[in-house]
Amino acid sequence: MSFDQLETELAERRAAHLYRRRRLLESPQGPEIVVDGVRGLAFCSNDYLGLANHPALKQALIDGAERFGVGGGASHLVMGHSSAHHQLEEALAEWTGRPRALLFSTGYMANMGAINALIDKRDAVFQDRLNHASLLDGGLLSGARFQRYLHNDVTSLEQRLARTDARRKLVVTDGVFSMDGDIADLPALSAVTRQAGGWLMVDDAHGFGCLGPQGGGCVEHFGLGIDEVPVLVGTLGKAFGTAGAFVAGSEALIETLIQHARSYIYTTSMPPAVAWATLSSLKLVRDESWRRDKLNTLIALFRQGASALGFELMDSPTPIQPILIGEASEALRISQALEDEGIFIGAIRPPTVPAGSSRLRVTFSASHSEEHVLRLLDALERVGRPRA
Ligand code: PMP
Repeated sequence: MSFDQLETELAERRAAHLYRRRRLLESPQGPEIVVDGVRGLAFCSNDYLGLANHPALKQALIDGAERFGVGGGASHLVMGHSSAHHQLEEALAEWTGRPRALLFSTGYMANMGAINALIDKRDAVFQDRLNHASLLDGGLLSGARFQRYLHNDVTSLEQRLARTDARRKLVVTDGVFSMDGDIADLPALSAVTRQAGGWLMVDDAHGFGCLGPQGGGCVEHFGLGIDEVPVLVGTLGKAFGTAGAFVAGSEALIETLIQHARSYIYTTSMPPAVAWATLSSLKLVRDESWRRDKLNTLIALFRQGASALGFELMDSPTPIQPILIGEASEALRISQALEDEGIFIGAIRPPTVPAGSSRLRVTFSASHSEEHVLRLLDALERVGRPRA
């Protein structure tokens, strides 16, 4: 069988400005990066607190490798659950105020694993239509009746919940939406979910580290406990600056995941040295609140400047500050023009976002300076064209 068909599909994708290509990052993450041999200012990482290249974390990774070796060597249930993993799980449980936490190798796997351990074809899953792909994929794979509700719309969720007689009802939402930057209305979502006898699962990949006085994310921001959010997911590759993810919740939840989450059971544990480094990272996330304060200063400076230039921003108080452009071709043009000015910002296009809502996904990090933000605004003024 030939691959001509695939070639044709790829060509069509290219013609529609939807082709995805990888770039070669030749430096650590940071405000200034080297991409394909070119140095520039970056506003496209999820390293929100500027920890991915922090000296204390690098040293902890080295120390962890000395103590535990490099590879996990086996799955958690065979012989790959090291004391580094265990200590990190205990620290994450304490920090999130939950009895237990369970580590996964990636956030994608945490979401797939948790959803599929909790529900099957006897059940129903309700998802915000802008949820991350890993949540949507997890729901589809589960075989449960799959329903999407309107973005952050509690009434839309309530109506769907009222119409189901499923055994279990799992409501799933991003905490901070990854492509829009807005925060889910967790108090209201939790109230209607509990009223319907369901469980609320929150993936706060982008909220942990950034929101809440101690970086405890959306649940700390709203002051929600385990009764309101019984299934809480966080990732470690973003504000934590390392890699992996965790699910936090009750004893029964975590034991159920250990028994049934296939993406937990059938995979090698994350390198223990990464878990060890993440213990150091957790201390910085919790204690160095100046990083969150700095982010908020940068975000305010950007929003004020970009609005004054006429750009359409989204209703986001978080380090994810998309500029809405519209057409994929125009988003690509601006992203390329910015790159010609030495500024890297990703153009996000369908199917990651709905058609007609292509955007520049500007993300800030505590390692940026105010001068960096002013450089960005200056370049936007020159090359960007606000939406008519
Ligand atoms: N959830 C959300 C909301 C995300 O944005 C991402 C990553 N982009 C993930 C989960 C997946 O996490 P990981 O990169 O650790 O697989």
